[in-house]
Amino acid sequence: MAIGEFDLIKCYFERSASSAGVELGIGDDCALLDVPAGKHLAVSMDTLVAGVHFPADASSRLIAERALRVNLSDLAAMGAEPLWFTLGLTLPEPNPDWLENFSVGLFAAADEFNCVLVGGDTTRGPLSMTLQVHGAVDSKNALRRSGARIGDLVCVTGCLGDGAAALAVIQDKLWPGEDAREYLLDRFYRPRPQLVEGQLLLGVASAALDISDGLIADLGHICECSNVGAIVDIERLPLSSAMRANVSVMQANTWALAGGDDYQLCFTLPPAKQLALQTLIDSGQLQATIVGEIVSGSGVICRSEGVEVNLSATGYNHF
Ligand SMILES: [Mg+2]
Repeated sequence: MAIGEFDLIKCYFERSASSAGVELGIGDDCALLDVPAGKHLAVSMDTLVAGVHFPADASSRLIAERALRVNLSDLAAMGAEPLWFTLGLTLPEPNPDWLENFSVGLFAAADEFNCVLVGGDTTRGPLSMTLQVHGAVDSKNALRRSGARIGDLVCVTGCLGDGAAALAVIQDKLWPGEDAREYLLDRFYRPRPQLVEGQLLLGVASAALDISDGLIADLGHICECSNVGAIVDIERLPLSSAMRANVSVMQANTWALAGGDDYQLCFTLPPAKQLALQTLIDSGQLQATIVGEIVSGSGVICRSEGVEVNLSATGYNHF
């Protein structure tokens, strides 16, 4: 007998733990929530469809972890602190093992990043999920895409290209050694939302976003919103040794520029804040690399050894 919707939520998703700001959680028609004083509520939603955003046969624990982590990355991009989330889950068939593992993965990520599930809905249909995350951000300081100015430096957190390299591993197109394989798959299924980093950049960065579609595409959004252009120096791109050891320099740089699923932050830095950034880096609080600069004009230009290059699907070459 199919499990009813009420039992499904009760079984797998209702937890009794009380949390700050949650006046009323799952179990009534609405959740009742208190937004911290002096903060904006930051809200973001993502839908993930089986076969499009994750392999349909992937472990439900990993799918859940990834779904929440990817959503939290959007809060990180604004410098917001996670508070709550809601979940819309569409399932072909309520399979108890699948649901049990899904809820383990979901709550593992929720607990790690202090984000409380306060409501949701389940329906029957092709496997997909929609998560909406809520966070709090200082009402004057949120990191927007529109604040970049000519002369600002372009920076990124962490390493770039691992998401695309991981996808190649999943698609059986790249066969690294065991350690590199483990590292890359972990980056894909358990991306690190740069929440601490985003909050450290409040009052330091002039603009920011998270890199979900590749540096060029996402930096392009900052340029568009800020009415500026950008130059990226390919030699400055931060690459992981796991990726570097297993592909050509050209492939590594192409993935770093145009691959997706990295969920690092790209931010712009006024020259006057360079010392503040260096202090954060030197003290070990932030891993960040300067990769380029904001210029007049529009769009993103890539440079290799000081010369403008043309980026295509298979790599880049000099004009
Ligand atoms: Mg985003």
